[in-house]
Amino acid sequence: MRLSSDLITRVRAAVNGERLLDTAISLVSVPSPTRQAGAVADRLAALLTADGFAVERPVADWPESPAVVVRWRATPGGRTLQFDGHLDTVHLPYVPPRVENGILYGQGAADMKGGLAAAVEGLRALRDSGGLQAGGILLTAHDHHEGPWGDSRQVHALIAEGYVGDGVLIPEYLADRLPIAGRGQAVLEIVVRRQGERVHEVFRPPGQPDVIAAGAEVVRRLNALNARLSQTVYPYIGPETAFVGQIHSGEIYNQSPTECRISGTRRWAPGHPIPDARDEFFALIREVAVETGTIIDGEFLVMRDGCRVAEADPLVGALQAAHEAVTGRSLPLGAKPFVDDGNSFVARGRVPALSHGPAADGAHTTNERVTVEELVRVAEVYALTAVAFCG
Ligand SMILES: [Zn+2]
Repeated sequence: MRLSSDLITRVRAAVNGERLLDTAISLVSVPSPTRQAGAVADRLAALLTADGFAVERPVADWPESPAVVVRWRATPGGRTLQFDGHLDTVHLPYVPPRVENGILYGQGAADMKGGLAAAVEGLRALRDSGGLQAGGILLTAHDHHEGPWGDSRQVHALIAEGYVGDGVLIPEYLADRLPIAGRGQAVLEIVVRRQGERVHEVFRPPGQPDVIAAGAEVVRRLNALNARLSQTVYPYIGPETAFVGQIHSGEIYNQSPTECRISGTRRWAPGHPIPDARDEFFALIREVAVETGTIIDGEFLVMRDGCRVAEADPLVGALQAAHEAVTGRSLPLGAKPFVDDGNSFVARGRVPALSHGPAADGAHTTNERVTVEELVRVAEVYALTAVAFCG
């Protein structure tokens, strides 16, 4: 569907920047580290109820903080567009909200209470403007997103229980591309051990395995794997990767340790079978164990599978049309650099999901910030995407 200029004007005029900012401040005011988002979920539910929406609170596998759901329909028929956001934040010291020179600061301002407030305002603008000709909006908000504290159980339960629209927008902090692809990701945990006790280096028995050298060999081989992977460049997403982010071993400089711990990630292209990447990882550590006389245990913890949305999908066209209507520019097709709940909607819900949110700074730091102007832009884009997608 094309967006008429009348409709664009009417829907954009119904986006209320002050109301949006009040909502964002209200959400940021309630601390909500992952697995403890109950109070902020209650706050969002109260705001939506006060606003006249019928709110459902499915437990969705996390009684600590039941999810928040609104199903709002303009008319029967048409498609349902889902706005899905997470209410939890990373476990860093809490930063309360403050607004300075048109910028909202505070924990969750960027990731993702600001974006979620924009989605809520998009929903209100659709209702107030009467701009949605057909179809409806499914708003879902949940806990358990941020790793390693959360394991995504709540969004997975929502999907399993059928809280899934015909297409999904996720207001993560990504505004410079239209992400139709995303890599899958696993966390790699490796523990290298040897038999025996910790011992002063000068009393080591001859031939005692060296866990630090074996750990270094694991790192070297993961880097070699990464170099091999970098030879194949996939459309939009670039190469697959293997990455080491942590290595820990040893107590003091002249003691032979018994353990070396390594952790990192493996990211793969959508469509690449997960078992292949897993087998390759276990073969790698097994070889090092044999060659170094150490015992190596590994874990290949799948966070999300890769995801791909077709270029011709109606959701892609709708988001592009809305973005052009609001900004005058189209977005280049691309990939999201991270994994997010969109991967789960594509893999488990079998619906297209696109991440689009404010160009915000400081996600996963104590200096999160987003301009109010960006939040308003996102609310307008969300409302107009619905107009183009649902009708
Ligand atoms: Zn997020």
